[in-house]
Amino acid sequence: RAKNETRGTFSYFENGMDARAQSRRRLEIELRDAIQRDVLRPHYQPLIDLSTGRITGFEALVRWPHPERGMIPPSEFIPIAEETGLISALGRSMLRQACSDAANWPDEVRVAVNMSPLQFRVGNVLSQVMDVLKQSGLPPSRLELEITETLVLEKSGQVLATLHALRALGVRISMDDFGTGYSSLSYLRSFPFDKIKIDQSFIRGLAANREAQAIVRSIVSLGKGLGVTITAEGVETEAELRCLRAEGCHEGQGYLFSRPRPNVEIVALLNAQCGADALDREARVA
Ligand code: C2E
Ligand code: MG
Ligand code: MG
Ligand code: MG
Repeated sequence: RAKNETRGTFSYFENGMDARAQSRRRLEIELRDAIQRDVLRPHYQPLIDLSTGRITGFEALVRWPHPERGMIPPSEFIPIAEETGLISALGRSMLRQACSDAANWPDEVRVAVNMSPLQFRVGNVLSQVMDVLKQSGLPPSRLELEITETLVLEKSGQVLATLHALRALGVRISMDDFGTGYSSLSYLRSFPFDKIKIDQSFIRGLAANREAQAIVRSIVSLGKGLGVTITAEGVETEAELRCLRAEGCHEGQGYLFSRPRPNVEIVALLNAQCGADALDREARVA
């Protein structure tokens, strides 16, 4: 990288950078600053039990409110964070905020946090998670960590040990974006999971797509065989939902139910669900 060269070479590269590289460099500087000033916030998207329609938990999705550009989507800055090492600080901050928000939600509601493979490579994930749980007071059983195939394909003994230790604490492990990577099924035997999230590319237009239906059906049956929860990502239409219910998929997430929202709105949403439950109970008693 240019940075490792002499100063003269560095400025030569800066001058020679094309517009794209320059705007990326600017974004990196602004991201570093945003993390330092702690302005990144999780938004939360509900996970719905498809048999009861109830909220089982929320996925925390990082949001960067930028003074000029509005909300910058994670697809624009997570790759930069991973390349520059900023992902460690970003990940730690998300974990901390998600657990402390979730600690104030009702007892049975979980929070799912995305973990970059890099966090496992450079940091001590286990001690980080233990610290955050202790500080927030969130019971381990209410935390879910979403990991990707890239991580398990490294076949690292240390990663495997960390995942086992996390599960021994009671933390749940989810396989995110299932079906998009190499999809080698062999790791499912050796790696401990509690949940598989079917990537949204298989859910899109599900009702009219026999191939996608066949894939969803086999992932659901795989899940039953392995004893893990199957969650469908990116559910947008009633037709997709009907299909997923028919296939026996356990859980759904998507714009049909709700977009990701800030924590203040989540608290209101959960209060409304609690209120509805109370009315249900009264109705049953009456
Ligand atoms: P993901 O973990 O697979 O998260 C699901 C993405 O799908 C989210 O995008 C969510 O807003 C979007 N989504 C949910 N329902 C629907 C739907 O019905 N239709 C469509 N079209 N999209 C839907 P988002 O928030 O832009 O995040 C993108 C990705 O960025 C995430 O994919 C995840 O890989 C990564 N990411 C987000 N937050 C974090 C974080 O805190 N740490 C790390 N390491 N990665 C994160
Ligand atoms: Mg995720
Ligand atoms: Mg996902
Ligand atoms: Mg995804």
